[in-house]
Amino acid sequence: MRSYNPKGGFSKDFIERVIESTDTIAIIGRYTSLKKAGKNFKGLCPFHQEKTPSFSVDPDRGLFYCFGCGKGGNIVSFIMEKEGLSFPEAIEFLAREAGIPIPRRRVISSENEALQNAVETAYDFYRRNLQSPQGKQGLEYLKSREVDEKFARNFGFGWAPFQWDSLASFIERKGLDAKPFFKVGLLIQHKERKGFYDRFRGGIIIPIRNTAERLVGFALRSIPDKSNPDEDKNRPKYINSPESAIYHKSDVLFGLDRARKHIRKMGYAILVEGYFDVLSLWAAGFENAVASCGTAFTRSHANLLARFTDTVVVFYDGDEAGLKATYRAIEPLLKQEMLVKISRPPKNLDPDNVARQWDKEKTAELIENARDWFDFSSEVARESGLFDSVEGKFRFADRIAPYIIALGDSLLGSLYTKRLAKLLDVSKDQIIGRMKKISKKSGNIRQEQNISAKPKSDELPKDARLELDLIARVLSNPMLAEFVHSADVIVLYKGAMEKINSTIMEKGECSPGLLAEYLEPRAMSYITKSILDFSEIPTRADVDTVILSIKKINIDRKLKDLQNELISAREKNDTKKVNDILEKISKLKREKIELSNST
Ligand SMILES: [Zn+2]
Repeated sequence: MRSYNPKGGFSKDFIERVIESTDTIAIIGRYTSLKKAGKNFKGLCPFHQEKTPSFSVDPDRGLFYCFGCGKGGNIVSFIMEKEGLSFPEAIEFLAREAGIPIPRRRVISSENEALQNAVETAYDFYRRNLQSPQGKQGLEYLKSREVDEKFARNFGFGWAPFQWDSLASFIERKGLDAKPFFKVGLLIQHKERKGFYDRFRGGIIIPIRNTAERLVGFALRSIPDKSNPDEDKNRPKYINSPESAIYHKSDVLFGLDRARKHIRKMGYAILVEGYFDVLSLWAAGFENAVASCGTAFTRSHANLLARFTDTVVVFYDGDEAGLKATYRAIEPLLKQEMLVKISRPPKNLDPDNVARQWDKEKTAELIENARDWFDFSSEVARESGLFDSVEGKFRFADRIAPYIIALGDSLLGSLYTKRLAKLLDVSKDQIIGRMKKISKKSGNIRQEQNISAKPKSDELPKDARLELDLIARVLSNPMLAEFVHSADVIVLYKGAMEKINSTIMEKGECSPGLLAEYLEPRAMSYITKSILDFSEIPTRADVDTVILSIKKINIDRKLKDLQNELISAREKNDTKKVNDILEKISKLKREKIELSNST
């Protein structure tokens, strides 16, 4: 198996071409409006809330930095952060923006590559089926749903035939390895005999893509088999791809690959339950709709949405089950400090019906008049008479509790606590007291489930900072690369340093953009700030000072290790080892003195 490849299979030339062709100001300008200020551009920081601009972009060097929150980097790390993408995904994103064709196959391991190929091969098969005579029933179904032919083609539906083995025998005919198809759940193993049969049969195939627009699985909408009505009775309406090495359901929201730019534009997302809710809403012009793929909406999903907006309209089915699911979706969203609004279709309708049967203005009105989750919940409670008794009010407080607790100490949490206190005509402290009791009862499990917690951007340790100081100097003055490289003092960021050195040897300079795959975000920010802070080009003497400090730190680290070894050697009465260590220690101490004298 091929080892992990951080470039995701892209050649160095391709990555450089993409970075060189990228208009940093135009891309970043989509996330915040930038104004020219001297040779740089300034604007409100897209990473933190602020009223006066402290976010600055240097178009010549392709770097950005925020003096408010300390975020910094280049266009690749910017896109990685804002779009929540990996390095190769960000390169793909920028390539698409720059109109550079993306070389095929760019998956991390050959194992995943085989799975990816299986999914795509099957997709080709399903798509061709829909256009063939056996796909006629599929096209008829789409037509009956008034799915526009152009939309259908554009979206890329497929057709899975009614036979048990149409994909399985296709794979056999083509002489392909069935295992990857089995691993992504397209094939199921026979229980009684050898061989496989199809998971998806008799229905419309809906492709599911992740945020990086890569095909990861399918959903099938079953269509009744007219020729075999008995056998057909127990088939579920929807069948979904199972989780696999390339499909993690908690990381995928159906439609987000297409909807995200509309979500940005509109300023909110519409969250629905089903695939056809999304598709019908899109077709009706509400292109900011997404759905979870046949699973409950989780905190990971909320975390995913939070990258694109802070406001979500939950628009679930009009029945009782839809109402329950609506309540369940509120908490994960609030946990991300999102503004949650709720819109409900009339009782026996779902968003799919509404989008197809109502005219656009009426649908828009329903969505735009979505109510704040708190107003919505209290209105439902009032209608059901919950506020007529003390007991009812008490119940209501407990029902709302998980949401208020999810908001924690945040500003929103405080605002809603106040509203609840006012609604029940009690004090804020009484509400807080009750919430504390409930949150203790529901246990600490909650905290463990908090998978979406973002890593704290605390300060880098001294040795890391020194190494990055050195790297920043080399990036600003490529003449220093060979010297720094041969000094061999960079340990923590060895990969980055090797990359810089080889690029500079080859091209004479190195764009900081190439480093996003080797450095973690806070290291990237640190380097960016250093580069922007240099008022003059760094010299050999500047570099010498830093190298010296690193050497001293390295000696100190080794000394500390040796002291520990010494203690354990003495405990074991290992005289020979004790002497060895003492000798090493005195040698290091001499080295340290020599270093100090050399300055
Ligand atoms: Zn900032």
